[in-house]
Amino acid sequence: MDETINAGGKLVCPGFVNTHVHASSQASEKIIADAGRPELMNCGFLNYLPVKGRDNQFSMLDLESPQVGGLFSLVNLLKSGSTTMVEMGGELGGRGGIEQFVHLCGEVGIRAYLSPGYGAGHWYYDSDTRLKSYWDEEGSLSDLRRARDFIKEYDGAYQGRIKGMLFPVETATSTPRLLEETRKAADDLGVGISIHNSETLLEFNQIVQTHGVTPVEYLWNCGLLGPDVILGHCLFTSVHSATTYSGGRDLELLAESGVTVAHSPLVFARRGMALESFQRYLNAGINMAMGTDTYPQDIIGEMRLASLVCKIVERDYFTGSSRDVFNAATLGGARGLGREDLGRLAPGAKADILIIDLQRPHFGGVKDPIRALVNCAVGDDVERVIVDGKTVVKDGRVVGVDQDRLMREVQAESEKIWAGFQQWDQQERSVDELSPPSFEFVDDLP
Ligand SMILES: [Zn+2]
Repeated sequence: MDETINAGGKLVCPGFVNTHVHASSQASEKIIADAGRPELMNCGFLNYLPVKGRDNQFSMLDLESPQVGGLFSLVNLLKSGSTTMVEMGGELGGRGGIEQFVHLCGEVGIRAYLSPGYGAGHWYYDSDTRLKSYWDEEGSLSDLRRARDFIKEYDGAYQGRIKGMLFPVETATSTPRLLEETRKAADDLGVGISIHNSETLLEFNQIVQTHGVTPVEYLWNCGLLGPDVILGHCLFTSVHSATTYSGGRDLELLAESGVTVAHSPLVFARRGMALESFQRYLNAGINMAMGTDTYPQDIIGEMRLASLVCKIVERDYFTGSSRDVFNAATLGGARGLGREDLGRLAPGAKADILIIDLQRPHFGGVKDPIRALVNCAVGDDVERVIVDGKTVVKDGRVVGVDQDRLMREVQAESEKIWAGFQQWDQQERSVDELSPPSFEFVDDLP
C-alpha cells in the first residue's frame, strides 16, 4: 500500500553505505579506551583480539553471543542511517557466528556484504605475555573454501539484500598464495574483496622487513588490487609521517588500481592517530568511502570527524568539506561495491532513503542541509530509514526490535565479557586493573 510521508523541513537523502563494520557488543573494544599495551604502537585491536596462548585457543570473542552483539550492531547501524554495511569477516562469537548473523541481517532489513573471514597468520599472547603469531596456510585455504561455500549459499538471499564478499581479514596475516587464491576466487564468484591494510605501524614494519615492500605494494605485487577491492583504513602508507618511508608510491598505486579506501577516523582518533590525509588521498584520485569500524556505529559522527581531522592534519579549513565526506558515505561506498543503484536518489536506484530531522534545537537555522548534517547532526536525528522501499526505522526505533530489552541484554552480555577478561589475560589482570574507573565508585555518600 502506498504511503505519503510529509518530510517538510527535513533532509531526504540516500541511505549511507558503510564499508567497514565489526558487528559485536563492542565490550572488548571499550575496555581499552584510555588504556592498553604501549608496545603495540597505539594499535587497538591487538589488545584484545589474539587468543590466549598457542595451545590455549581461548579468545575474548568466544564470550560473545552473536545474537545479542549482532543485533545490537544492526540496531545502531540502521538507526543512524547505514542502509548498507560491509561486515569485515564476521568474527563475532568465533566460528559459526556469521551463519546466525546473516539471518539477523535478513530479518531487520539491512543490506549486508558478508562471509566468514580468514587468515594464514594467527595472533596469540604467549606465557611470557608477548604478542606472537603462528602460520597455517593450508588452514586458511580451507577457510577460503568455506567462505566460497557460504557465498554460494547466501549471495542474493533476502530479496538480494545479502551479498557475498571475500575477507582475507588482515594484510599482516595473509601469505602471497592466500592473496592469489583470493583474487582467483573473487573473479570466479564475481564478488568483491575487503582486507585491512596499512592499519598498524607494526604491520607496516613487518611487511617492509619480511617482503621489502610497503603493505600497499605487497597487495599490488600479489595481484590483489582492483576496483572491486575495499581496503580498510590504509593509514600507515608511505606518505604517513610515522612510517618515515622515502620514495614511496602507495597513493599512486591505490589510485591506479581503482581500489576504495574505507575511512574510519574515530577508532584511530581514539588511539591518537590520523589519516594523512582524507583530502590528500582524494586529490591523488583515490575513491574514498566511510566506515564505522567498532563503536559507536554512527556514520554521521564519522563524517564529522573525517572533516575535522582532515582540517587539523592539513591545517587548512578548505579541506575535508562536508560535500566530500557526504559523497564518501554515499557514492564512494557504492562505487567500492560496484553498485550504481546505491548511494543516490535517482531513477533506477534502490529505494534506500533516509529522513533526517533538521528542525531539532541543536541545528539552529539551516542554510545548507549537508553542512548542517555534517557539522551538527547525530545518528539519533535520523527519523525514518527505508531500505528497498520498506520502512525499517520509524520514529528513531528499529521496526520489530524491542530495543529496551536488547539494551538490558547488551549490558548483561558486556558484564559477562568484562568478568571473563581476567581468564583471558596472560597477565591475569582484572578488567579494572587494565581499565581503572574514571572516578572511584562509592557505596554511600558521606
Ligand atoms: Zn576493521
